[in-house]
Amino acid sequence: MRGFVIVVAVVMGVAVFATSSAPKVDPERIRAHVKYLASDELEGRGMNQKGGDLAAEYIAQQFKSYGLKPAGENGTYFQKVPMVAVKTLPQTTFEFVPTSGSPIALTALDDYVTTNERQTESADIDAPIVFVGYGISAPEYKWDDYKGCDLKGKVALLFVNEPISTDENFFKGKALTYYGRWTYKFEETARRGAIATLIIHREDLASYPWTVVRNSWGGEKSFLQLDGTPKLAAASWIQEEVARKLVAIAGLDLTKLFQEAQSRDFQPISLPVKLKAHVVSSVRPFTSRNVLAMVKGSDKAREREAVLYTAHYDHFGIDKNKPAGANIYHGAADNATGCGILLELGRVWADTKPAPPRSILFAAVTAEEQGLLGSEYLGKHTAQLPVEPILDLNYDDLPPIGVPEDIEVVGAERTSFYPTVEETAKEFNLAIRPDSRPEAGHYYRSDHFSLGRVGIPAFSVSEGMKYQGHDEAWGLAQAKDYVEHRYHQPADEYKPEMDFHGDALMAEFGYALGAKAASAASVPKWLPGDEFEAAQKQRRAK
Ligand SMILES: [Zn+2]
Repeated sequence: MRGFVIVVAVVMGVAVFATSSAPKVDPERIRAHVKYLASDELEGRGMNQKGGDLAAEYIAQQFKSYGLKPAGENGTYFQKVPMVAVKTLPQTTFEFVPTSGSPIALTALDDYVTTNERQTESADIDAPIVFVGYGISAPEYKWDDYKGCDLKGKVALLFVNEPISTDENFFKGKALTYYGRWTYKFEETARRGAIATLIIHREDLASYPWTVVRNSWGGEKSFLQLDGTPKLAAASWIQEEVARKLVAIAGLDLTKLFQEAQSRDFQPISLPVKLKAHVVSSVRPFTSRNVLAMVKGSDKAREREAVLYTAHYDHFGIDKNKPAGANIYHGAADNATGCGILLELGRVWADTKPAPPRSILFAAVTAEEQGLLGSEYLGKHTAQLPVEPILDLNYDDLPPIGVPEDIEVVGAERTSFYPTVEETAKEFNLAIRPDSRPEAGHYYRSDHFSLGRVGIPAFSVSEGMKYQGHDEAWGLAQAKDYVEHRYHQPADEYKPEMDFHGDALMAEFGYALGAKAASAASVPKWLPGDEFEAAQKQRRAK
C-alpha cells in the first residue's frame, strides 16, 4: 500500500473507506445519476436509439467534468462497437426430412426459435442431423462428446447444460461451468464447422421455461459485426417434445439418449433425418459505443497496467408497439445503479492524489442485454486501449434498498486476488456470501465474463441478501419481488424512496479493492486449473 493511508470510518451507519486524500463516495450523487439515466427522457437507453446515445454522451461528459482522461479512440471517450441487428422473418421455414417417411414441418416460436448468426438475409440448409450429447469437448475433465465426428456442413443436435455431477472436480459439481451455457454450444459447434445447431430445451436443465427462450429469441437480436469467428446459419433452440419426435423417427428415445449423454463413452449418433430450412432475416448494421476514461498511474514502470471498472449502460429502450406511458424500459436498478457507482468511482479516483502506481480504467459498456456484446468487443480489442487491464471489477444491478451486511463476489475465489478480497471484506465488516444458485451459472451472465474469458481476472461486486435493520428473509423477499415485478420490465423505475447508501458502500468497497490491486507488487491471476488459465497464459505471451 505504498503512498496510501487507509482510513476506515463510520458515517451514517456506512463504513466509509478512503485514502488520506480521496474524497468520499456520495450516495446522493449516485441517486442523481440513476434518476437521470432512468428518466423518461433517456427512453430506456436502447442501443441505436436516441436514449442510448444520450446516456453515452452523459457518461462521457461526467467523466470529462471529473478530469478523467479520454481512453477511447482518437483521443475521445468513445470506442465504436460495430454491430448488426438480425431479425428472423415469418417467411422462414424449418422441417425435418427423414430418409423414408413424410417430412415434419415445425411452427416458429412454438416449436423452435432460430437466428442466422452469419448475418445474411437468406440462408438455405439441407443437411444431416447428428446428435452429439452435450456437445462438449473439455480436455481438463477428459470429456469429448465428438470422438472425432466431423460436423462440417452438418446440423448438431444437443442438450443444454453439462453432465450431471456432484463431484467438485468434475464440471465443478453442481455449479454450471461455461461448457453448460448455450453460448458455448453455438460457439463450439460453429468452430467445428456446423451449419446449424439445435439445442434441446429442457426447463430443468436450462433453469428457465420455454417462454423465456421464445421471448428473448422471437424478436430482433444484435451481434457484433462478423470478425472471422465461425458462426451458424441457424443457431436454434427446439422444444423438448419436438426433439422427442425427431429422435423417434430414428427409433430412439430421448430420455434414454439423455442417460447415454451422461457417459464419457457416449458416441455421436447420425440420425437418418435432415434439417431442411430456409432462414429469412432482416439485417441492419449499426454502430454503438463503449465509453472509456482513465486515471494515469504514477509509477512509470507500472502505469501501462490498469485496474478496470465496468458497468453496462444499455437497457431495452423504448418499445413503440406498446402504448405510451408503459413502453419505456427505464432500467433504474438494471443498470443505472451500476453506472452511478462507476461514475462515482470515476470522480473519486480522479480526485485521489497522488494517483496510484498503476492506472485506473473506467468502461461504461453497451449491448449487455443483447449478450454482453459491448464488453465482448472491449475484451477482444484490449490491444487498442492505452493501458492493459489486469483486473476487472464489474457492477450490474445493485438494488438501492439500504446497506448490505454481506456481498457476493462470485468468481473472485477463482483468482489469486481472493485473499485481498477477503481481507477487504473484513475491513468493511462485510460477510462474503457464497453463490446462492451455482447451477444457474450467473458468472457467465454479466460483463465481467467477457473480460474473464480473454484471461483477465474479473468478477462482479454485488450486494448480498442481509441488510442492516432486516433479517435475511427480508432481503430474499426483496429480491423475489424485484424479479417478479420489475426485472427487465418497464416498472424498473427510479423512486424517490430508493436508498443509495448500499450502492455507495459497494463503490467504496470496489475503490478499496482497486487501490490494493493498483499498488500491489504483482498482478492478479486465475488460479492454476481454472478454465480461463489458458487464455491468461496466451495473453501474457503476447
Ligand atoms: Zn444488467
